[in-house]
Amino acid sequence: MMTLDQFSVRQIKGVSAPKEQELHAFGVQTVADLLDYFPFRYEDYRIRELTDVKEGEKVTVLGHVRGVPVLQRYGKSKSRLTCKVEVGHWLVTAVWFNRHFLQDQLVPGREIMLTGKWEQQRLQITVSDSEFPGSGNAAKSGTLQPVYSVGGSITQPWMRKTVRQALTQYGAMIEEVLPHELVQQHELMARRDAVHRIHLPDDTKEGQAARKRLVYEELFLFQLKLQAYRALNRKRNDGIAHRIESETIRQFAAKLPFELTDAQKKVVNEILTDMRRPSCMNRLLQGDVGSGKTVVAAIALYAAVKSGHQGALMVPTEILADQHMRSLQRLYADMGIEVGLLTGSLTERKRRDVLAGLQMGMIDIVVGTHALIQDDVFFRSLGLVVVDEQHRFGVNQRSVLRRKGMNPDVLTMTATPIPRTMAITAFGDMDVSTIRERPHGRKPIKTYWVKHSMMERVLAFIRKEVSKGRQAYIICPLIEESEKLDVQNAIDLYVQTQQSFPDLQIGLLHGRLSASEKESVMAAFGANDTQVLVATTVVEVGVDVPNATLMIIMDAERFGLSQLHQLRGRVGRGEHQSHCILVADPKSETGRERMKVMTDTDDGFEVARRDLELRGPGDFFGTKQSGLPEFRLADMVADYEVLELARDDAAALTERDDFWSNESYVRVRNVLQKDQIFQGEQLD
Ligand code: ADP
Ligand code: MG
Repeated sequence: MMTLDQFSVRQIKGVSAPKEQELHAFGVQTVADLLDYFPFRYEDYRIRELTDVKEGEKVTVLGHVRGVPVLQRYGKSKSRLTCKVEVGHWLVTAVWFNRHFLQDQLVPGREIMLTGKWEQQRLQITVSDSEFPGSGNAAKSGTLQPVYSVGGSITQPWMRKTVRQALTQYGAMIEEVLPHELVQQHELMARRDAVHRIHLPDDTKEGQAARKRLVYEELFLFQLKLQAYRALNRKRNDGIAHRIESETIRQFAAKLPFELTDAQKKVVNEILTDMRRPSCMNRLLQGDVGSGKTVVAAIALYAAVKSGHQGALMVPTEILADQHMRSLQRLYADMGIEVGLLTGSLTERKRRDVLAGLQMGMIDIVVGTHALIQDDVFFRSLGLVVVDEQHRFGVNQRSVLRRKGMNPDVLTMTATPIPRTMAITAFGDMDVSTIRERPHGRKPIKTYWVKHSMMERVLAFIRKEVSKGRQAYIICPLIEESEKLDVQNAIDLYVQTQQSFPDLQIGLLHGRLSASEKESVMAAFGANDTQVLVATTVVEVGVDVPNATLMIIMDAERFGLSQLHQLRGRVGRGEHQSHCILVADPKSETGRERMKVMTDTDDGFEVARRDLELRGPGDFFGTKQSGLPEFRLADMVADYEVLELARDDAAALTERDDFWSNESYVRVRNVLQKDQIFQGEQLD
């Protein structure tokens, strides 16, 4: 039997070859595509009583023509047509612009539907749409009309007509895709009805039920891909079953300079359990800034090495790579573990040494940036990949690195917490470990928002902290478009700061410095040789100098919330009370709102939630690489309950053994087949 995706839109009556070409531009090729081209909102032509309508509101009313129409013409094509119409108890004046051809149809006594703006003062309706009920082409009266995204010669009326025609010709062929039991269990409208109703809703309730059904379908099919991927990955058993002695790990933990928090212990256990399994780990580690994710990664990498393999830690910047390499070397001191560094700025000779070391297995753990995923990098036996601050990395880059090993385990760490609905969507194929508590004895960071005019007092505050032996960051914003200007900004601020504190050592860090220059600036700040570090956002993620207790962010309104929270996370990493000062005179409401969120809370989970609220899901990650899909109907925030439901259903279904064989799941399996889920690479 033919299915709707086998019929070209040309087969719909009224679709010409040129129109077909234009539809292609909207991604509409087949009848199935057209029927799935849902309206994004509705225009309300339902009849109302004028007594319920407020001044200036748009309304649709039903009335009778009274009196004779009056036509005034201006120039060739412009005209103004007025006519008295009786609507309920009112005699109103209907006004049309440039609709002179209606004059002959306005016969006294005739019933008429008017849509337009109601001006009560003048008892007047400025008509945008009118129809004569019972005249045969009164399509809109009393209905909700779909509004499609259209363009070119494809107009709204044409689209409405064509979709209606498609429904007439092919509507009966629309088939259910969801498993029968789910449709029943959630009392979902059948697909055929839902598609009809979403295009031609007869009242809001029907439209809502149709939407609910289609939103569920969209989220379910999306989740099905993620969950199928996850289930297959678990079944495949082609990863590395690491041999890890618990005692080895315990001994390592005992040598740490601090005791692990309960949250850290819990996630270490989750990770080690995964690593011991023969399937590939694909786990997301999320926790707030400063919650101690790095040491968790260090333990996992240690475990990989102890079980005879190599580990790789991939980070977004050279500063971080450098810092992580040092801290790993410190943690693994005297344990015979070789840590290497691979970044873009290595000399050719050093680079060749590192590559050879990795290939021959002399290097156990390599820390690096993008340089890690170049073609000429080979490992003897890559067993674990840790991707730090993952939102900086493209989805593809992750999978490239992954393929370098023999299906290594992958641990992804996020810089800041991700709201739950985001996590389910963007990382739904992963298992999630969450660190909720911060190390003991940490004091909440005190955050203030001040105007630029208070800079004197801010400087005095720096002076005070430094006199207690602490250190401070001053951040100036980076505008991607003009690095040159930013660097100039940073240099100016640096000079000013030097003038304000002639007796202190001031450091300067920005993106234009060479790798070794950055390294020495960071080393000086780390050793408290410089007390104040003027920097661009290059210090945004991961930088760890526990003695720094003051974070000053200039022009803070120019940063997003998660970025502000990240920057703030550079302090509060030791036992001293830390402060964050946002210097900003925001002009916009959202700018003020962001400052308020920052001063309200220093909990990253809460910041993330409010950030999502303020920005909406589309902008949350700020980059295309986030892996977030564009949903046609679903709204990740508004529909989050459906999202969770769909996720649970998809997970339960794909975990069943008969999912892959049972006849009744053929249709959903076909959906997966179409997306080549079985080839495994699709979603990585
Ligand atoms: P993040 O989660 O932001 O990556 P880090 O791993 O950089 O956090 O840890 C922040 C700081 O806390 C580091 O200086 C680290 O050494 C320290 N730290 C980590 N775990 C603990 C702990 N259990 N007790 C005390 N300090 C800790
Ligand atoms: Mg970190």
